Amino acid sequence: MRAAARFFGLALFALAAAPLFGDVTLDDILKASGGTLAWEPDLGYGVITRGENILVFKPDMTWALLNYAEKVPTGELRRAPDGGILFSAAAARAVEAALAGNEDIRAPAPTGDIAAGAGRSSSVAASRIAAIVIDPGHGGKDPGTSHTHVFDGKTVDVVEKKITLKVALDLYAELKARYPGLKIVLTRTTDTYVSLEQRTIIANSVPLAPNEAMIFVSIHANASFDYGAKGYEAWYLPPTYSRDLIDPNSLGETTKELYPILNSMREEEYTIESVLLGKKILEGIQGVVKGAEIDRGLKEEPWFVVRNAKMPAVLVELGFVTNPEEARLLIDDAYLKKLATGLYNGISSFVSYFDSTSGFTE
Ligand SMILES: [Zn+2]
Repeated sequence: MRAAARFFGLALFALAAAPLFGDVTLDDILKASGGTLAWEPDLGYGVITRGENILVFKPDMTWALLNYAEKVPTGELRRAPDGGILFSAAAARAVEAALAGNEDIRAPAPTGDIAAGAGRSSSVAASRIAAIVIDPGHGGKDPGTSHTHVFDGKTVDVVEKKITLKVALDLYAELKARYPGLKIVLTRTTDTYVSLEQRTIIANSVPLAPNEAMIFVSIHANASFDYGAKGYEAWYLPPTYSRDLIDPNSLGETTKELYPILNSMREEEYTIESVLLGKKILEGIQGVVKGAEIDRGLKEEPWFVVRNAKMPAVLVELGFVTNPEEARLLIDDAYLKKLATGLYNGISSFVSYFDSTSGFTE
């Protein structure tokens, strides 16, 4: 609480010292600072980037967060009649100074040790994708979903665990060839059983440097009582599902009060990145299978594997083993290779985008 009192004291000081020019619009701040705004309407927060600096703000918070480590006091933000966001003159000055890297106007950083202690981070300025975890669903004693068809007079079992492994191995080979410097990790390479907990542990224990990020792609096949159902789709975790993404023990005593907000911001960031990754993967698959009519889209779901992976994560369902037409394709190696290329195209598009935006989705 002492840190909070000090913080409020400084915020009041900043307000008192500021010239009272009245309200400043977000547009004015962007013009003055040379920053670019990315607004996330669904999750209700904005991100201003300028050079290496990233400032996240939410209209209902009284401070913004600079580079995921430092508080910048903004006081209460208000809405203009046209819906735009208004900053006080003092808040505008603080935000502009923060984006410019001007030290003297910001509150002293009670949160400074978070930057070092926050563990894996995909949003610190200039972060890059360093690892890709590919998770072929099921395996060994767990076949996943399966369906028996009769094709051309022959009985054929179409089994999820075989489909996911083939596609994962093809995808691995393509990613490894394109990104020899990245860690490309498979949660299984053979027909073996790997529990969901083990998969999550494999993903979460890939070693990363502080500015390195990773993504997790779980590969599955679908089934339905409706044999007419077909198509591919992707899933991500809904943002309301709370995960502990930052280890509270890694934070200093004075910064523990910030834990919930940092955690939720990391959560929102991972959600945005997961949505983008999912969209790019679906586009990638659509590009190779040329079947817009069977793109079932991107959906929210609190999947176990995805839920516990502390990174942007997407689960892809390649198609329905229960649909006769699609099941034929899912046992065709050439089609599975196409799907792998579609996944590869989507993932590499995400990686290029992520790296070019210094790790934050615009
Ligand atoms: Zn599955």
